[in-house]
Amino acid sequence: MIPGNKYDILKQYFGYDRFRGAQEALIDGILEGRDVLGIMPTGAGKSLCYQIPALMLDGITLVISPLISLMIDQVKSLNQDGIHAAYLNSSLTAGQYYKALEYAKQGRYPIIYVAPERLLTDAFLDFALRAKIAMIAVDEAHCVSQWGQDFRPSYLKIMEFVERLPCRPVISAFTATATKEVKEDIIDILQLDNPLAITTGFDRDNLYFAVKTPKDRYGAIRDYLESHPGDSGIIYCLTRKQVEEVCERLRRDGFAVTRYHAGLSDEERKRNQDDFIYDRIPIVVATNAFGLGINKSNVRFVLHCGMPKNLESYYQEAGRAGRDGEPAECILYYSGQDVITNQFFIEHNQDNEELDAMTLALIQERDRERLKKMTFYCFTNECLRDYILKYFGEYGSNYCGNCSNCQTQFETVDVTEPARSLIGCVESCGQRYGTTVILDTVHGANTAKIRNYRMNENPYYGTLAKVPVYRLRQVMNELQMRGLLAVTGDEYALVKLTKESGRFLRGGETMLMKMAREQERPDGKERASAAGTSARKLKKDRKGGVYLSDDESMLFEKLRALRSEIAKEEHVPPYIVFSDKTLVLMCRIRPKTKREMLTVSGVGEFKYEKYGERFLECLKKE
Ligand code: ADP
Ligand code: ZN
Repeated sequence: MIPGNKYDILKQYFGYDRFRGAQEALIDGILEGRDVLGIMPTGAGKSLCYQIPALMLDGITLVISPLISLMIDQVKSLNQDGIHAAYLNSSLTAGQYYKALEYAKQGRYPIIYVAPERLLTDAFLDFALRAKIAMIAVDEAHCVSQWGQDFRPSYLKIMEFVERLPCRPVISAFTATATKEVKEDIIDILQLDNPLAITTGFDRDNLYFAVKTPKDRYGAIRDYLESHPGDSGIIYCLTRKQVEEVCERLRRDGFAVTRYHAGLSDEERKRNQDDFIYDRIPIVVATNAFGLGINKSNVRFVLHCGMPKNLESYYQEAGRAGRDGEPAECILYYSGQDVITNQFFIEHNQDNEELDAMTLALIQERDRERLKKMTFYCFTNECLRDYILKYFGEYGSNYCGNCSNCQTQFETVDVTEPARSLIGCVESCGQRYGTTVILDTVHGANTAKIRNYRMNENPYYGTLAKVPVYRLRQVMNELQMRGLLAVTGDEYALVKLTKESGRFLRGGETMLMKMAREQERPDGKERASAAGTSARKLKKDRKGGVYLSDDESMLFEKLRALRSEIAKEEHVPPYIVFSDKTLVLMCRIRPKTKREMLTVSGVGEFKYEKYGERFLECLKKE
């Protein structure tokens, strides 16, 4: 037990002045001996909710965590804050493992991270059954649920373990997954006793969201990187092959990038991941295999070169940006081909061989539905943040001002005629073709494919020759969102009529839709550069946050260099020394004394003693 109240501990060890969101309520719940369930988005600060009570309770807190990298990161971070903590998992040699257990028995660690599969082993039970365990904190608690994306059978061992303990500790559970099924599963499976369950809003207001449909996707990404030099970010691709291609081209274009996907050796994956985490290489190009357990807080952008299979994945991946609360950007570069790639993945889902045909069919149906909603995210002209929040069952505000749609000027356009032609074309060709053929037909393209399919003889051939294809595509997308046309969920993606199509085609209804103003084509360069303002500058416009002048930016770079130097000495990732946010505040506040330095959010006593002076020196030179 560490003396002091929760506020003292927050300030002294973590360097923060106040709690955020639901932190305090959850901490109070635990301290009163109640089970708690905290459902909070990434970056909200779940760890503090169990770390602070862990330091105040009489006894040891075991933190169950699914990933080794996450545990190591957290323990390093606690150690940097001057708190004794250890992890017990397969990354330790047998010798190290027993030594850590020995220390644990001596009561050296108030917090011990342990992998779920260790819980019921003899060696661990030998320790746990005799120790005084005050709390079990279950991190990433959605791993107990088969509904979630990351079900881990070993998480089911937690309850068996708890039942063997002589005295039931408080159980606290945390996750960023919000669906109702998952929440119920966590309470049931972990047998939480009348828990204090708090779900905080899922909005991450420091994240800027954008969807772009550039003709040259690679070029757009390259331009983005060019206008954000030095920033750290992740570029997600749909396939390993795409990772290789994008990574190779970026290297040839002179960018420092590394790569990550499941096809690489364990050794290379680890090396590349570390290069990214330790800021040796600022950018990683990766498949969705990358990121779980990556706590790096200074990721300034997450670009998607391709649309993920559902919004759950997208929000999780995009959400790896800006964990430090500083502005960060999440941009999805969409192409129609992405739908087909994802449909292929759904049809050929090999992940779960033991599923019977009926279950598999159900899962595929669910996946197709999710993919459709993801696709509509790329089509919508409404606030993107609002779209995401609604998807997760929350109410947004219709206008956030910090997404590409809120920042685009739209006009209302009458698209009745193109809409009728498109539906008419689908009907008259017997619903046999995909989007491109339909668009090419009404646009009057003279290609071999169109002639082969004899679509040049279709009554709608060339009827919309004057409308630019990208506009036709937007109308096509809008028709899908309104349920006036549908695209089949298989890999052929054929355009089909719906129940509503005939009524619209033959009725007298007009169709109005929001379209970006002509001068601002969504795939145009002008917009790319408008959105390309650096993440740090964006903040100026928002909530009176911190804006760095040129001088301050130079100072920031110096502090960043010092941080890297210290990180190397300490063998920890730079963001564990201080977050970007803390460095930004130093540039702003310019502390001159120890007392002033300790007022900077993120500077605790222990860290000050370790390297506070060096930062003061660096600031003094200015
Ligand atoms: P989560 O696990 O919810 O994704 P973390 O626990 O990793 O989030 O916290 C995200 C970041 O926010 C960390 O850098 C953490 O130090 C910081 N943080 C947590 N609580 C506070 C607070 N009360 N004030 C300021 N920063 C905080
Ligand atoms: Zn918006």
